[in-house]
Amino acid sequence: MILANKTAIVTGSTSGIGLGIARALAAEGAHVMLNGFGEPTAIEQIRKEIAEMGPGKTAYHPADMSKPAEIADLVATTARTLGSVDVLVNNAGIQHVAAVEEFPVERWDAIIAINLSSSFHTIRAALPLMKKAGWGRIINIASTHGLVASAQKAAYVAAKHGVIGLTKTVALECADTGVTCNAICPGWVLTPLVQKQIEARAAAEKISVETARKALLGEKQPQLQFTTPEQLAALAVFLCTPAAVNMQGAQLVSDGGWTAQ
Ligand code: NAD
Repeated sequence: MILANKTAIVTGSTSGIGLGIARALAAEGAHVMLNGFGEPTAIEQIRKEIAEMGPGKTAYHPADMSKPAEIADLVATTARTLGSVDVLVNNAGIQHVAAVEEFPVERWDAIIAINLSSSFHTIRAALPLMKKAGWGRIINIASTHGLVASAQKAAYVAAKHGVIGLTKTVALECADTGVTCNAICPGWVLTPLVQKQIEARAAAEKISVETARKALLGEKQPQLQFTTPEQLAALAVFLCTPAAVNMQGAQLVSDGGWTAQ
C-alpha cells in the first residue's frame, strides 16, 4: 500500500470522480477526509463503505467550497484529526450552461469560487504542512475545458483554464520541496454533472436521453466511450507513486481523443 499512514483530502467526494478517487486512495492505505454535499445518511453510508476499503481512518467535513473560512477549517481539521495533509485532491466542481450574454452573474461567481478559487484556498492552507513534511501530492481535477473551450461554458472554461495556470505556478513554487502539483484533465465522464447536461439536451432538442448521450460523446470524444471515475482514480494513485516523482505541473489528459483533434 503506497499511502499507508498518509492522509488525503478529496474535495467533492460524495459523488462521481471524487468518490472514485477517495475509494482508490483508501484502498492504498490512506486516511481519507471526505467532503461534498448530500443527505447525511447517504454520506455516512459512503464514509463507512470507504472506511472498510483499507486500514486508514475515514472522516467527513461539510465545508462549502465556495466559503474560504470553511475551506481553512477543512484543512485544519484534517491535520488535527487525521494527523497531516499529504495528498490534496481538488475535485469539487459545478457546471452551468448558457451563452455569455445570458450567463447569470450569480452562476459565474459560484463556478469561479467552487471550480477555481477553492483550489487556491486549499493549496494555500495545505502547502506549508506538505513542505514541512518534505512530501506532498497536489492533484487538481481540471478538464479538457482547461485546455480547449466549448460554447456556452464561459465560467467553467475560464475556471478550468485558471486551474491549469494555478497548477503550473504552484508546481514551480514547489520544485525541490518534495511536493508535486499536477492536473488531471478528463473528457466526458458519466457522472451526475454530465447526466444533467445530457437530460437538458434531450429536452431542448426533443430527442431521447440515449440519443442525446450518443450525440454528446460523438461531437467531442472520437473514442466514443466515457472516461470512468475508476480510470481517473488510477491516475491519481499513479501521481502518488515514486514513478511520478518528477512529474511537476503536468496536465494529464484522459479524454478519448477530444484534445488530439
Ligand atoms: P459530480 O456532480 O458527480 O460531483 C461533484 C462533487 O462536488 C459532489 O460531491 C458535490 O457535492 C461536490 N460539490 C459541489 N459543490 C460543492 C461545494 N460548494 N462545496 C463542496 N462540495 C461541492 O461531478 P463530477 O463529474 O464527479 O465532477 C468532479 C470534478 O471533475 C469537477 O471539478 C468537474 O469539473 C470535473 N470534471 C468532470 C467531468 C465530467 O465529464 N463529469 C469532466 C472533466 C472534469
